[in-house]
Amino acid sequence: MRLDNVVKDYGDKRAVNGLSFHVHQGELLCLLGANGAGKTTTIEMCEGFITPTSGEISVLGFNPATHPDAVRERVGIMLQGGGGYNGIKVREMLQLAARYSANPHDPDWLIDILGLGGVAKNTYRRLSGGQQQRLALALAIIGRPNLVFLDEPTAGLDTQSRIAVWELIRALKRDGVAVVLTTHLMDEAEALADNVLIVDHGSQVAMGTPDELTKIASSALISIVCNHEVDEEAFHRAVGVEISAIRPLHYRITMEPTPEAIATITKELARQEVLITQLETSHRNLEDVFLDITGRHLRS
Ligand code: ATP
Repeated sequence: MRLDNVVKDYGDKRAVNGLSFHVHQGELLCLLGANGAGKTTTIEMCEGFITPTSGEISVLGFNPATHPDAVRERVGIMLQGGGGYNGIKVREMLQLAARYSANPHDPDWLIDILGLGGVAKNTYRRLSGGQQQRLALALAIIGRPNLVFLDEPTAGLDTQSRIAVWELIRALKRDGVAVVLTTHLMDEAEALADNVLIVDHGSQVAMGTPDELTKIASSALISIVCNHEVDEEAFHRAVGVEISAIRPLHYRITMEPTPEAIATITKELARQEVLITQLETSHRNLEDVFLDITGRHLRS
């Protein structure tokens, strides 16, 4: 699927400001943005629920604005707040959904993998929020869609359920399914995403693999405390980067804390007969990158 310079205005309010991206089969794109960034609006345009003000969207070869039914037949959608029918039991609901598809997943396999076995005979309204969410995921994928939209699929789930959902999402990718996921959870983005698109006030502010993004403006640091003074010039000659004293016996080295970097540093200090009494590394994660780029935390 592909978006080209997509804009959505609500009156004077520009909710989405010229977004472009593509997602290939078997890839996961993560949309990261604070509340109100425009993620839900973007997904709803891809699904044909709302029409862009300008720009082009192609989902599995269809324009969702003009062919919403063709799109919705082929994509799986998991929206925030689920979407079940109150009176029907979990297993019945999945069996019913399976009947709409030529080659559905086995409802019992999904019940098992998502840990819904204990509530398979419960009606939707008796499920906890987390169970409703897992059911919504099962309903989104039971028809083996080629593309799925997952809006905060693990928000509010306990650790065990989150891991089950992550495993399922990885399995979808292995099967060649394209996934568009929104999340507030940085570890989720780092764990699952092939590409991350950071959106702020409707505009793209950064896009790349989690690795590429965490290398942006990298000010990776290694801090050490030593038992006596380091020969800073000799260190610079040997290691190729500067070491600077921030106070007596406390040093800072600005370099990516890779295993090789640490080995090089300790080797040089051993040569200087300096003992490291403390060593600390700071690896920048997506959370830091988000903060650098947008100037705020993802969850305020
Ligand atoms: P969240 O993480 O809270 O779901 P989001 O990134 O999904 O946020 P959107 O729901 O897409 O953000 O909203 C983007 C902006 O558009 C917000 O400022 C929102 O108030 C505005 N907006 C969304 N829907 C409408 C609407 N129907 N009418 C007017 N403004 C709207």
